[in-house]
Amino acid sequence: MKSFKEIYRSSENKIAGIGAAPGIIIGEAYLYTKEKLQISKADIDDIEKAKTDLTEAIAKSKKELNKIFAVAREKMDEVRAAIFEAQLMILDDPILLNEIQRRIATERKSPEYIVDDEISKYQSKMILSHEAYMKERALDIEDIKQRIIRNLQKKRWESKIDHNVIVISETLTPADTILLSRNKVLAFVTDHGGLTSHAAIISRSLNIPAVVGTHNSTSQIQDGDEIIVDGFYGYIITKPTTEQKDFFIEKRRRLLELQKELEGLKDEKAITKDGKEIFIYANVDVSGEIDMVVTSGASGIGLYRSEQILNELGEFPSEDEQTKIYTKLSSRIYPNSITIRVFDIGGDKFRFLDFEEPNPFLGLRGIRLLLENPALLKKQVRAILKASTNKNIKLMLPMVSTIKEVRESNKIIEECKQELRKEKIKFDEDIEIGIMIEVPSAAVMARDFAKETDFLSIGTNDLIQYLMAVDRGNDLVSELYQEFSPVVVRTLKHIIDEAKKAKKPVSLCGEMAADTLAMPLLVGLGIETLSMSPSTVPYAKRIIRSCEYKKMKKLADKCNLLHTEEEVKAAIEKFFTDNKITRTRQII
Ligand code: PEP
Ligand code: MG
Repeated sequence: MKSFKEIYRSSENKIAGIGAAPGIIIGEAYLYTKEKLQISKADIDDIEKAKTDLTEAIAKSKKELNKIFAVAREKMDEVRAAIFEAQLMILDDPILLNEIQRRIATERKSPEYIVDDEISKYQSKMILSHEAYMKERALDIEDIKQRIIRNLQKKRWESKIDHNVIVISETLTPADTILLSRNKVLAFVTDHGGLTSHAAIISRSLNIPAVVGTHNSTSQIQDGDEIIVDGFYGYIITKPTTEQKDFFIEKRRRLLELQKELEGLKDEKAITKDGKEIFIYANVDVSGEIDMVVTSGASGIGLYRSEQILNELGEFPSEDEQTKIYTKLSSRIYPNSITIRVFDIGGDKFRFLDFEEPNPFLGLRGIRLLLENPALLKKQVRAILKASTNKNIKLMLPMVSTIKEVRESNKIIEECKQELRKEKIKFDEDIEIGIMIEVPSAAVMARDFAKETDFLSIGTNDLIQYLMAVDRGNDLVSELYQEFSPVVVRTLKHIIDEAKKAKKPVSLCGEMAADTLAMPLLVGLGIETLSMSPSTVPYAKRIIRSCEYKKMKKLADKCNLLHTEEEVKAAIEKFFTDNKITRTRQII
């Protein structure tokens, strides 16, 4: 049988991108477009027909939303699902509906024009509001407006995904990804985005294969086309030949076989051949994932990206709502532990500011934004503390770049503790507070930072982007986003060594932890705890269990002296060959 390389070399019907979530899928393409619909302002003669069309479009929209609401209630908490309930209520608003009907009759314009104009009026008022909550609601209303207009135009709509499809889109926001994943989505393909864009991370955590950064798949692929998505190598095959199809059907069969074998590793520890145990934790991005963690064989949750709640909810939950969410998580994962990272807002995540920042990744993001809005941080910290009575929660601060930020945050956390003591509310008095090391300034002074906190967790996704000055989500510069750059190797070694000197634990929770190629290097550098998407936990165990720590350390020492990414990669690949360890791609 041919190899992947040979198949791709001889294929003209391929589109190259970045393999963002592993897996092989053969299926039907579905072009997902969020383009604004063209609105016709045409005059109408038949008012009764226009009114009937409107009633039908509203009924259809309601049916669609009811379906989404039901799925949301099943997959998300009640609180989060409520956003769809609110949308449904708008469709029942008699004042709005009567006004639209009245205007159709008096102005004699197409219903889509009146719907657009009337609903837009509400939106403009909301967008002008200074409250972030109202602005977010304006977005919900946009969603409803588009839904009604789309139904008036009898066009295909996202929620109509009723059979298995591969979603092709220019870009996907984290919220799009979550929402679409509730439908029957086999895989994602996007024109833009890089390996560590949050949409890519979510695909990986939901175990949905994805290829991102294809530049032009939306113009090359037609709705309904049969395509093959290879999330390992990052290729799309359009309209495959019989030979290509047979090749990928066989690869898929072998992949499923391997996955079955990996299931057997679930309850095994990640111990190297010479007896060193590595602790594998899982990252959680979406609520539905928590069950996957429990069954993945992970030792707990090493990173809970709490800002994901905002993406799902579209707003800031109250202290009580947050307490409920965190308590549920803590109980579900008990007796294992969960590290809750406070909201990392900004960058490409949840929008909070009223204005566009020129450089959002270098702007008001993570702890910077929270310290500017201490009420927000306090509410979340109080909720986390209140949920900590099982003593299995740790709290973590994102995007820390100065010692002052750590001290200010610790002061706020202390204030929250004092308040709770006064209010006679119980919490874990010994709760550990740690920080993410994902900014070069924190990496350079890792030992000093470690002394101010209980633990460090290295976020390679951001650390690499800031070290290499390359946007993690921009496919134009993805060549420079080098996980295996010697500067990354040396920086990791420095952080790990410095944390050890301060006698503080250090873990790694960026996507690099899930890259099986990086595994021997990371373990060799002295990392003892890794946190990764739940679906990759067994793959990591398999690699660790087939290596000797002694040899991995030697490999890391060698990589530490190299000068280019190519040299580091070549050294690691040689390590795999010399030790006869196969990676997934080589097995299938
Ligand atoms: C990281 O930067 O590596 C990280 C884990 O945080 P996030 O991907 O959420 O920015
Ligand atoms: Mg980060």
